[in-house]
Amino acid sequence: MQILDGKIVSQAVKDAVKEKTNRLRAAGKKTPHLAAILIGTNGASETYVASKVKSCEEVGFKSTMLRLSDAITEAELVAAIEKLNADTDIDGILVQLPLPKQINEATVINLVHPDKDVDGFHPMSVGKMVQGLPTFLPATPYGILLMLEHYQVPTKGKHAVVIGRSNIVGRPISILLSRNTYPGNCTVTVCHSNTPNLGEICRQADIIVAALGIPGFLTADMVKEGAVVVDVGITRVPDATKKSGFSIKGDVDYLNVAPKCSFITPVPGGVGLMTIAALLMNTYNACVANNGA
Ligand code: NAD
Repeated sequence: MQILDGKIVSQAVKDAVKEKTNRLRAAGKKTPHLAAILIGTNGASETYVASKVKSCEEVGFKSTMLRLSDAITEAELVAAIEKLNADTDIDGILVQLPLPKQINEATVINLVHPDKDVDGFHPMSVGKMVQGLPTFLPATPYGILLMLEHYQVPTKGKHAVVIGRSNIVGRPISILLSRNTYPGNCTVTVCHSNTPNLGEICRQADIIVAALGIPGFLTADMVKEGAVVVDVGITRVPDATKKSGFSIKGDVDYLNVAPKCSFITPVPGGVGLMTIAALLMNTYNACVANNGA
């Protein structure tokens, strides 16, 4: 069993982005600049945005964090995004989800300029991804691809089962794994909350991507010997032994599933770190594309 180590792969991606950024600077080109919008005081969102900003510093990017009150109106948020769209120094914009109830998520996602859509959520980016055209891939699925590639995990002709059909993870990774390229060329089954006989389907899988948000959902009896398991889940569960009062759990019963796997991602230390690395890669590419570097 080989651990797909997010620390190692994300560091390799970050090192490559840092090196390329240094080269931009040495050539007198523009430094990549990511703007992150954080609304309200959701603990998990605060942690995610803080680590994205910190990672920008590590690779030599500029970053701007816009903290907005959770009482913000949709019109105010729209104005803030339009300002960032118009700012030629900003290469990438990310709006940390979830949004407060009074804000329509689709309105916000559609508003980020496709040239700055480093989260890859805009319908233009999604459409291009589906057609296999160059675009920003959504960060978590892109991070998973980078990880599979790093470890040269075989995917061609494999049966991949994706659990979850969200727009940010399940749906896009199912499309990407079925592409006619590496990593891809899988036969993909997408499972969701209305899928009967999920265990039976998972047992047929060579590759399982668990992205549903239920800690320990994928148990050893659902996994065949030698399967590749990618655990996307991140759930905070109360844990009195931790200073923070919680620990992070994935969707996989790691202790019992890992011994059966050929490759598996841990949580924490797996896909989460790759998501940030992929976001940095998208931001670098946005800077180069938008500034002709
Ligand atoms: P979501 O809530 O939008 O979607 C969950 C999906 O799981 C739905 O499509 C639903 O149909 C499916 N589902 C729910 N219960 C199910 C069941 N019993 N059986 C089968 N399918 C079921 O979630 P999301 O935004 O896709 O996130 C999923 C998980 O991944 C969460 O834990 C989230 O925190 C985590 N996440 C991690 C990263 C990362 O960087 N590692 C990024 C995004 C999301």
